[in-house]
Amino acid sequence: MRVLVVEDDVQLAAQLQAALGEAGFAVDVEHDGREAAFAGSVEPYDAAVLDLGLPGEDGVSVLREWREAGRHWPVLVLTARNRWSDKVASFNAGADDYLTKPFMMEEVVLRLRAMLRRSAGSGAGVLQAGELAYEVGAGRFLWQGRALQLTAQEHKILAYLMHHSGELVTRTQISEHVYARDLDPDSNTIDVLIGRIRRKLGQPQVIRTERGQGFRLVAPEGAASTE
Ligand code: CA
Repeated sequence: MRVLVVEDDVQLAAQLQAALGEAGFAVDVEHDGREAAFAGSVEPYDAAVLDLGLPGEDGVSVLREWREAGRHWPVLVLTARNRWSDKVASFNAGADDYLTKPFMMEEVVLRLRAMLRRSAGSGAGVLQAGELAYEVGAGRFLWQGRALQLTAQEHKILAYLMHHSGELVTRTQISEHVYARDLDPDSNTIDVLIGRIRRKLGQPQVIRTERGQGFRLVAPEGAASTE
């Protein structure tokens, strides 16, 4: 899942980028409000972490612009200010959650995952496709009840497919949502990674190829049951 981090404190932005990257997110960073408003309006993000006090344009205005541009992905607002009026303003502008500085990096990761889980419609915190389960909070995959060992890139692709289970997902969508802005994989790379994930999963196969279009994660019909 691809996340935009908007934070003018360069050191804090780098810490957020590192922590979220380690947690399996593809991360783009903006330090300026106007740049952030533009990036969020044109790039296909899955979520954003947004500071309120920014040069160029304040965070509440940035958020309002994203929402007006039809961007409805979840937004976690960060701020040093702990004023009730700021909270009200950011929730009114469309924020999904709020965190006051200073905070633990782990909490940002947990809240981001919780927001993405809610937007994928899973209150229970586990996304399921046949015998494949994704524990969103822990960021862990289980296949037929056993933990699945994936590389970082494989993990990102499978997590994106799980959040869009049953839907057609194109190679373009994968390259836009799994990779940060400066990384642009060719479609062959994606096919190679999908092939590796399939080999790790084995049978019954849950990733279907839609010829000429992309991929679809499906719960196979008549999946073997040991009961
Ligand atoms: Ca700031």
